[in-house]
Amino acid sequence: MWPFRARTYTYPSEHINGDTFLIKTAGCTIGRMDPFANDILPYLSEPEPIRCDGEVQTYVTKIHGHVYLNVNSTAIRNSSLLCCYAGIYRNLSAAIPDDNIFYSECVPFVNRIPIEKNTSSLRVTCENGYDNVHYVFHEPPPDAVKHAKRPNVLMIGIDALSRLNFIRTMPKTVEFCQRNGWIDLKGYNKILHNTYPNMMAAMTGKDPNASMSIGNAKNTFPFEDIDFIWKHFKSRGYTTAYAEDWPLVSTFNFVGPGFLRPPTDYYPRAYFVAQSTLPEKVFCGLPQCYGPQHVGLGMIKLIEDFTSAIKNRAGGFGLFWSNSFSHSDLNCPKNLDKPYLRLFERLKRNGVLRDTVVIFFSDHGFRFGEIVETTTGWLENRLPFLYIWLPSAFRTRHPKQYRNLVANARALTSPYDLHMTLKHILALHDPTYSMLPSPGCADCKSLLEEINPARTCSDAGIPPYWCSCSKYIAMPTDDIVATRAAVFCVDDINRSVEGTNCSQYTLGRTLEAKYFEVADSTIANMFVRVLTVPPAKFEVNLRAGYDERVGELEFSTISVDRLDRYEPVAWCSPTKDMRRYCHCGAVN
Ligand SMILES: [Zn+2]
Repeated sequence: MWPFRARTYTYPSEHINGDTFLIKTAGCTIGRMDPFANDILPYLSEPEPIRCDGEVQTYVTKIHGHVYLNVNSTAIRNSSLLCCYAGIYRNLSAAIPDDNIFYSECVPFVNRIPIEKNTSSLRVTCENGYDNVHYVFHEPPPDAVKHAKRPNVLMIGIDALSRLNFIRTMPKTVEFCQRNGWIDLKGYNKILHNTYPNMMAAMTGKDPNASMSIGNAKNTFPFEDIDFIWKHFKSRGYTTAYAEDWPLVSTFNFVGPGFLRPPTDYYPRAYFVAQSTLPEKVFCGLPQCYGPQHVGLGMIKLIEDFTSAIKNRAGGFGLFWSNSFSHSDLNCPKNLDKPYLRLFERLKRNGVLRDTVVIFFSDHGFRFGEIVETTTGWLENRLPFLYIWLPSAFRTRHPKQYRNLVANARALTSPYDLHMTLKHILALHDPTYSMLPSPGCADCKSLLEEINPARTCSDAGIPPYWCSCSKYIAMPTDDIVATRAAVFCVDDINRSVEGTNCSQYTLGRTLEAKYFEVADSTIANMFVRVLTVPPAKFEVNLRAGYDERVGELEFSTISVDRLDRYEPVAWCSPTKDMRRYCHCGAVN
């Protein structure tokens, strides 16, 4: 007999509150989620305010398409301060051009100097010790007059921000979105643990296996030939941009070598790499200031500068991804609430929102620390925020699509759907564009299409362990199945690190074990959370089967998630991939 069958574990009722639900469709139920649930309260606090040293004393202006670098002489009360500026360029002959930059000779100037077209990133130093970098969105090449019915697409991403934490930490921005009719996709569910697979699903439609084999490919620049969505926009006359504000962990540089050639028309990678060489000031566990520049505010400026650069052009597509203020501290996004509110207010006032679709989103919730072990934290990690703004002209022209999006606010959705949405926006405005399915999820839908209420996580390309509709049932941690599973997991992790300098682990304690049956009581999907010696915390999703003939339990690992911060202890890992399993320095 299957050892779970005789047990009468209770349904985890904490996910359900009265009769209110986040999502309740034929295929998926997610109970009401309280952003201020009791189990989360201990982790909430006021973040340290970000204060950078000194002031930004220089700025860039554009006059009739010509770009000038200016010294703010009024602010520094000196009209004859000598400064010089140097262009920052990618070093194309280096092994990894994304990480290697060089500077041109520093050109002296006082007050103001024109910037050449071939210089987009620049560093300015002054005799008073001032040192800073700027990025310039030069005018895109002349093109046809703006296609009146084609919207720009602006993707603004904040890493590791769950829908609930967005509500908690950025309430002013949330209120702006709600007041102005941005659609809150409440059932937007990640497909795997961290940034890369979720970003790849959204930007290429690929599944995590395909994404990982690209990231691990031995050829020198595996991302060059990938069919990123920005290429679709580019080939239809859009001006494209892609920026990430923390160069060390940028999505395609953390997993692979980044790009050989700039992947988009505007690509401020060299600017961010140069910025990261300025004196840093750490808040919220990460450098938030480089020299006088507040990194998060710098990104907001880039977003705005991009919208100016594409104004009156034949369409712009931009992806702007911030890691700096949200990746390592649950409460730190509070520092950026007002700046994002102000950004959106300005975009509205300046008319940008009249012809721009905005996808404001994250990839997953907070993934580290004890919050992930709480019921709310565990679930919200799976549900990143996603708001979509459709301009009123778009809504008028495509009323059915708008109605569908509104209805889908209460549907189970995934990054593959977001990918299809981007394709759908192209298809709606270009009859020659054929909207091919997401390669990783053939049945996934544009969020502007009707989604079948019977949709399950498997239909949306979401594995059971990451599925917010999965109803896991708690088991006692000393249960024989839980114990056997925990031992199996530690053995399995040890096999992964065998032959490396990473330590072998022993099981310290089983912290939690849950399961649900997937096939008439013979197979279950389980997860166990274990604390090991040397200390590491893993949450392992596994498949458990019971072989009745031999009376044996059998396990196989589906995925391993590391819950403690491993960066400081995983320095001896032989590969980037293995860092998640690794603990260095302990005796084997
Ligand atoms: Zn992420």
